[in-house]
Order: sequence, then structure tokens, then C-alpha cells
Amino acid sequence: MNIAFIAHDKKKELMIQFCIAYKGIFEKHTLFATDTTGKMITENTGMSVYRFLSGPQGGDQQIGARVAYNEIDLVLFFRDPITAGSYEPDVSNLLKLCDMHNIPIATNLATAEVLIHGLERGDLDWRDIVNPKNK
Ligand code: PGA
Repeated sequence: MNIAFIAHDKKKELMIQFCIAYKGIFEKHTLFATDTTGKMITENTGMSVYRFLSGPQGGDQQIGARVAYNEIDLVLFFRDPITAGSYEPDVSNLLKLCDMHNIPIATNLATAEVLIHGLERGDLDWRDIVNPKNK
């Protein structure tokens, strides 16, 4: 599956801890991320991550475009709800695209954990039918 990671600055440390905890699952999949998030994941876990532009430079939108083409199967977007102001349009757009294409998206740790356990259990295997390029 194609998994996309985005973490706002105040959530990056949490994202790293999450990736370390679930490395055993993530390394079976193809990973994408915005630039800084991806760099930090690679540096801290050794996993290879395809990096888009940084979020503020349009990386969120690049991931959104992949979602629009139905090429991303799961989005883990640890957003900062406190300083969300300037991020809000990008967040809304990504949520909208995920809703249009029925792509699972987690915006906090608790939901992300549920989705990762579901992914490991095969709950998202239907995505291989919808997105056969995964095979
Ligand atoms: P970054 O982008 O991973 O390049 O920091 C994420 C964001 O802040 O939207």
C-alpha cells in the first residue's frame, strides 16, 4: 500500500515515535511524506521515504493530487490543532479529497493507531482492488 505521512512542526516528534513503534508494519509498504517529515522519519528509523515538497511549499497539495488520482491508500496527517490557522486551507483540501475517494485519513495519534492495526489485519486490503498498482 502507498502510505502518506504529514506532520506539522509541533507533531513531528510524535510522528517519529509512532514510526519507530510501527516500523515493522510500515516497512512492508511504500512510504511518502512531505519533505521535513520524510527526512526525519528516514533519519530516525532508516526507512526509505519518497519525499514531496515541504508542506508550506505545496507538499500537502502534491499528496492531495496523488489522493485525487487514487494513488494513496492511507494518509497519516498529524496536524497541530492549536496553530492550525494558516494550515487550515491545506488541511481542508486534503480532507475533502480523502472523503471524495474514500481514503482513510488519521489526523491524530489515536486514530492512526486504529488504522495501522487495521492495515496489519487486512482491513484495507480492498484498496488493492481499487488501486491495483499496489501489486
Ligand atoms: P514538512 O511539511 O514535513 O515539510 O514540515 C509538513 C507541514 O508542515 O505541512
